[in-house]
Amino acid sequence: MELIRSKLISAPHAFPTRDGGVSKGAFSSLNTSLAVGDDPADVAENLTRLARSFGVESSALITARQVHGVTVLEAKGQGGLGDADAVFTATAGLLVGVRTADCLPILVEDPHSGMVAAVHAGWRGVIGEIVVRAIEQLEARGATRSELRVALGPAIQACCFEVDGDLPAKFSAAFGEGVLRPQPGKARVHLDLGWAVMRSLERAGVPASHVDVLPHCTRCDQRFFSHRRDHGVTGRQLSLIQCVRGTAM
Ligand SMILES: [Zn+2]
Repeated sequence: MELIRSKLISAPHAFPTRDGGVSKGAFSSLNTSLAVGDDPADVAENLTRLARSFGVESSALITARQVHGVTVLEAKGQGGLGDADAVFTATAGLLVGVRTADCLPILVEDPHSGMVAAVHAGWRGVIGEIVVRAIEQLEARGATRSELRVALGPAIQACCFEVDGDLPAKFSAAFGEGVLRPQPGKARVHLDLGWAVMRSLERAGVPASHVDVLPHCTRCDQRFFSHRRDHGVTGRQLSLIQCVRGTAM
């Protein structure tokens, strides 16, 4: 397994590549989604391997059914959650995670309480500022925005994220012209999702020095599953963060 980590996050966490699992073909090898047509037994083994790298069983690994919305749910015990694109926990031992293959996986840590959150943000989640919705939940539980640490993991970067229709106008209205990234020799507009999330976090009161934007592009870099590069037939990498020092009763 190749697990990428952020220097800013002190809680156990990982942004996995597709390496180190047992799935075959288009899902080779560390696919973590049961919704893409992979063998369920292989997915279960992959989840077990990932959980064990954190010293827990896969039952402690909590995810939600991602729907490109802005709902945030709390994981309080074992078992999957309903529809949501962000999951947080204050329960020691639990791991929360989000599945992506070009969308942005965002991991958040409150170093004081030990609370952690995992956020899935495609363009809808970025425009809807789901990361700020997650921060509001942590704040409601006692976190201070200026003390949070945030890592933006491997995702489709501006080099590859061509868009059309009304998206460029929507994004520049929400985040400023800087979110549009013209590419040499390319006619269509490219968007920088990470840059947009940085603006959201800055406006929400998270200092830029507390935000780590990892450079990996899932579409360029063959180590990752990429929905665009693989024309929709691909797996999902599961980015994870663990609560080691919980406050939940
Ligand atoms: Zn790229």
